Amino acid sequence: MIPAAFDYVAPTSVEDALAALAQYGDDAKIIAGGQSLLPVLRMRLNAPEWIIDLGKIESLRGIRDDGDAIVVGAMTPHAVVGSDPLVAEHAALIAQAVEHLADAQVRHRGTFGGALAHADPAGDLGAPALALGAEFVIAGSGGSRTVAADDFFVDLFETAIGEDEILTEVRIPKRTGWGATYEKFVRVAHQWPIVAVAATVRVDGGTIAEARIGLTNMGSTPLRARAVEDALAGQPATADAVRAAAEHATDGTNPPSDLNGDADYRRHLATVLTRRAVLAAAGA
Ligand SMILES: Cc1cc2nc3c(=O)[nH]c(=O)nc-3n(C[C@H](O)[C@H](O)[C@H](O)COP(=O)(O)OP(=O)(O)OC[C@H]3O[C@@H](n4cnc5c(N)ncnc54)[C@H](O)[C@@H]3O)c2cc1C
Repeated sequence: MIPAAFDYVAPTSVEDALAALAQYGDDAKIIAGGQSLLPVLRMRLNAPEWIIDLGKIESLRGIRDDGDAIVVGAMTPHAVVGSDPLVAEHAALIAQAVEHLADAQVRHRGTFGGALAHADPAGDLGAPALALGAEFVIAGSGGSRTVAADDFFVDLFETAIGEDEILTEVRIPKRTGWGATYEKFVRVAHQWPIVAVAATVRVDGGTIAEARIGLTNMGSTPLRARAVEDALAGQPATADAVRAAAEHATDGTNPPSDLNGDADYRRHLATVLTRRAVLAAAGA
């Protein structure tokens, strides 16, 4: 299908993009890589009068070292994130997730910030953002604010980004001494995960000191598996201890049922994938 007609503006600064958002209000929609928005427009699930393209704002692209964190610009394409040496060194979990995200074409057009702002509960980046304790920098007319990953995902396709705001960058704290693994279950390679688990684990002298675990497609938003995290803390990094903790993977979840699998199947997957991801991240 062909989208409804719209007008188009491509500002070259965040300030100009915010001004356009303020001017056109409810009639405007931001476009980043267009990989999720364009299908929505083509299906006429949305028909904005104005499209504000962030593609010409250079300051939103790239990855930089900021001391205790790496910072990923919202308009950085997945393919750039996935091959970046800073990401490989300090946020390997993100590199793992991006490696299996969609096909090469989508990875070259789709952006890191666009995927997170879209907040599809089946998206590959939300769970790693939770597990890594990422922070989201959101610009508005009154300046910028920072939102923790735990507070960013609000509901199905809904985030803490206001209608008059733009996600500008994502800060990912460097984690030394942590292992990390992303386990994604799909029927066909490079598709959306049926369920995925992002695990980060810090082992100290054979004991699991801390763990942060994110779940994909186990509810209306990416979720922390807090019951597993609590059950792991202080346990030996052994297969038996991890297996017992992983039994809590479905606590507090509300997985969907669809053609790829029903809710019970997803609960089973979450338990198995959590065990595998934690074991790999702990090096056990
Ligand atoms: C065939 C196909 C397969 C895919 N497979 C996967 C997959 O396996 N795993 C996966 O995770 N994803 C997958 N995707 C989605 C892909 O990751 C998209 O790139 C992503 O969902 C949207 O990113 P985008 O840059 O294209 O954003 P757009 O489509 O341009 O925008 C998406 C939404 O976010 C808003 N938005 C974008 N940027 C900002 C910003 N900076 N601030 C505020 N709001 C913003 C837009 O207004 C829009 O509502 C797939 C997409 C396709 C087409």
